[in-house]
Amino acid sequence: MAGFHRLSCQVQHYAWGGYEFIPHLLGIDNPEGKPFAELWMGAHPGAPSVLKNLRPATDLQTWISENSMTALGDQVIKKYGPRLPYLFKVLDARDMLSIQVHPSKAQAEAGFAAEERAGIPRQDPKRNYKDDNHKPEIHVALSEFWMLHGFRPLEEIADALAAIPEFENLAPQWPLYLQDVGVDPDGRRALLRTLYEQIMMMPQEEVNILFDGLLARIEPLYDRGLLKKISPHYWAVKAARTFRLDNGDRDRGLFSIYLMNLLRLQPGQATFQAAGVPHAYLEGSNIELMANSDNVLRGGLTPKHVDAVELLKTLDFSSGPAAILEGVPVSGSEIKYPAPVADFALSCIRLERGGSHTQSKEHGPDCLLVLEGAVRLAGESLQRGEVLFVPAGSGYSLAADKQSVIWRATVPLD
Ligand SMILES: [Zn+2]
Repeated sequence: MAGFHRLSCQVQHYAWGGYEFIPHLLGIDNPEGKPFAELWMGAHPGAPSVLKNLRPATDLQTWISENSMTALGDQVIKKYGPRLPYLFKVLDARDMLSIQVHPSKAQAEAGFAAEERAGIPRQDPKRNYKDDNHKPEIHVALSEFWMLHGFRPLEEIADALAAIPEFENLAPQWPLYLQDVGVDPDGRRALLRTLYEQIMMMPQEEVNILFDGLLARIEPLYDRGLLKKISPHYWAVKAARTFRLDNGDRDRGLFSIYLMNLLRLQPGQATFQAAGVPHAYLEGSNIELMANSDNVLRGGLTPKHVDAVELLKTLDFSSGPAAILEGVPVSGSEIKYPAPVADFALSCIRLERGGSHTQSKEHGPDCLLVLEGAVRLAGESLQRGEVLFVPAGSGYSLAADKQSVIWRATVPLD
């Protein structure tokens, strides 16, 4: 078999990261209490993994571009060029992340070309499109995991608007309009768009008055421990304290906490973020697999650039309960998390002590993470926290020395 490669992967120390989960996974101490937000496994130019067994040190993107046929196989090269199509991550959120949405492929291509033509430098904080790729993503909770995902059913939004006195004048006609549109999907999307546009375009002063009032009422409840995480109020207070804007302005992203589905995932549960679906990770650790892109449009809860016009172009105003995904067994040891994209596939291999898992030659470029336990591959021992790249088309067999959990990213073949 073509050899596998142990990877040394980079950590992103974003301020919202946790202190323990990723250091513990990697078996390192964190005496300075640095935030460990994300472990990037892959070939993204922003933080490519490095092949440990090569001298001089070579990063995965360079190695793949020089050995693309071996690394990726012809099918993947034909479709994606000599690049790894996915980016694989472990993420640990202690504090919440911004509300975000990712563009479709067509939109990313058009947006990227327009910003290139306009001469906006790629590192400019006002730049929306860092590359011309879409960024669908799937993630699986590794702990209890809190997040916002998609817009709530409109009837729930109506209830939320009615139940919160500070929202009284926001859309007083909403129940009437809602009755008018009934179940018509276009009408429902249009109704939600109108409300969302109103919020995004509202004068800052009005946003401040509204949330100063609401927060004055709910912050004492938060401080006395009377708000539970299942209540949007809990996250609104947390968000208001996390994202303090200049001169005391309130972040209008706070509205979205009341408009979006608030999810509490159990370990092993997943969601898929298609283009246009707004989402925000609030708390917990997960494993995440996405197309190799950095295109993010933000909808608030961030000190970063918010481009309301581009955001409104991108958002999918469909509403309804969020789809929570479970893994589907594909063999006795592997469960797959189906995502409706061709760029990547995510699965989890669970082995009892003494158990084994065999992968045939028919596979794309694989990235394996030993999340728990220890396994042997081709006579070599792999410990918890190790990450491997296995070139396309090379069969392999994992044998567990202990009860083990291995996460696998790959590119599905036709
Ligand atoms: Zn995202």
